Amino acid sequence: MKRSTSTFHKCSLCLLQNMSDNILKRGTTIFTSKPFAFILNSKCRTTRCDNCLKGGKLSKCSGCQYVYYCDRKCQKESWPIHKAECPRLKKIFPREMPDAARLMARIILKLNQGGANEMGYYSEKNFRKFKDLMSHYSDIKTDTKRLEHFTMLCGVLFQFLDETLIPNVAELMGIYGRLCTNCFNILDLDMNTIGAGIYLGASVMDHSCKPNAVVTFEGTTLIVRTLTDLPFLDWSQIRISYIDLLNSNKARREELHSSYYFWCDCERCKGEELMAEAAACPNLSCDSPCSIEADKCEKCNAKISIEFKETFQEVVTFTTHHLEKMKTMAYLDVSKVCLKKQKGVLHKFNIQHIRTLELAHTAAVNLESWQDAELYGMELLPGYLLYLGEVHPLTGWLYLMIGKVQFYLEKSKEALKALNKANMILMITHGDKHSLVREELQPLLCQATMESNSDNNM
Ligand SMILES: [Zn+2]
Ligand SMILES: [Zn+2]
Ligand SMILES: [Zn+2]
Ligand SMILES: [Zn+2]
Repeated sequence: MKRSTSTFHKCSLCLLQNMSDNILKRGTTIFTSKPFAFILNSKCRTTRCDNCLKGGKLSKCSGCQYVYYCDRKCQKESWPIHKAECPRLKKIFPREMPDAARLMARIILKLNQGGANEMGYYSEKNFRKFKDLMSHYSDIKTDTKRLEHFTMLCGVLFQFLDETLIPNVAELMGIYGRLCTNCFNILDLDMNTIGAGIYLGASVMDHSCKPNAVVTFEGTTLIVRTLTDLPFLDWSQIRISYIDLLNSNKARREELHSSYYFWCDCERCKGEELMAEAAACPNLSCDSPCSIEADKCEKCNAKISIEFKETFQEVVTFTTHHLEKMKTMAYLDVSKVCLKKQKGVLHKFNIQHIRTLELAHTAAVNLESWQDAELYGMELLPGYLLYLGEVHPLTGWLYLMIGKVQFYLEKSKEALKALNKANMILMITHGDKHSLVREELQPLLCQATMESNSDNNM
């Protein structure tokens, strides 16, 4: 039997090492897979290779003058799927193909090339084919927003592909539904989205807002690692998060429902939530989260006045507006204005406040404003720990960033502490073979250790 592109770790070394006492230790790779179909996001078109997604020195495809590759090898690897796109991308240029349409076209091309028989294994005997992915056909048919999107995509596809290749509308909608509800965002080392892909075997995993496994990427390869110790590998018990966990219970549930058509019933969604939308206590020496509907703080009884409620609404509206505006680009000055207004009004664990800190941190790093980057990184950390948890790729990445910035600021002791923390987390979420650990974290950890030792000897 031909084993398509997925590999599972039956008796591989990494699994054996982690199987002491018959339990599956956290930080075990349980699945790796190449995509069934994928695309590089168009916003990265000129900065990353269309085949392996790496940045660096690239050359244009001489056919379409649209996509870029590292070298001949990448171009050759991509050719079986790019062959059909190449003349068509050229024909529609300078118009760009919407990302979803390009992925959809690649899936259609792949299915026409025998892809329907491809088997994505997730265990020794179990596999999924493209048709096994949930299509949510009846949900999509009654979802106005998705139907509009689908109609738009069909318009593009009929211009882009030969009519003979395009299946009938029902089948096309089936493909679209599978795409919407099974697509993975492909992330770079800094966890920014750079592409999207369908991974057949990985689609078996369900969602939880308190997941026991995590997905990371190395190029286009999807990797799943465990976040908690498990008695054994049972795929029906593996949970990843489909969405950004930095959100209130209500927002997460709504997002899951509108994107994936289910109401999440996980432990976290059912739990009580006090802080996501909370106000700060008007009594500045009290750190209790206050509900803006209440008339006094439950902890210290400080009065929540009408004026305070009005100010709170104003700050929320102001922040919402600017968070929306900064979706594509974070600005340090705007973030600072928001943070100033939030002070004493929004609770420190209010999601909007944490999102503003996130933008301030990103903007400060981009501007190489290291003092600000350290400050906002440190302020952001408790929010990540609360909403994402300690063992989460983003929390590990934030420790790495803080350590890196502290190293630039010549605070080698603090840097070493943060980098050690990053190492502890990223060794679980990514593992020592991942390039984030090998190429970014470990060299820095080495340098910081040496600096710190030489400081000690002075
Ligand atoms: Zn490449
Ligand atoms: Zn081309
Ligand atoms: Zn949930
Ligand atoms: Zn209080």
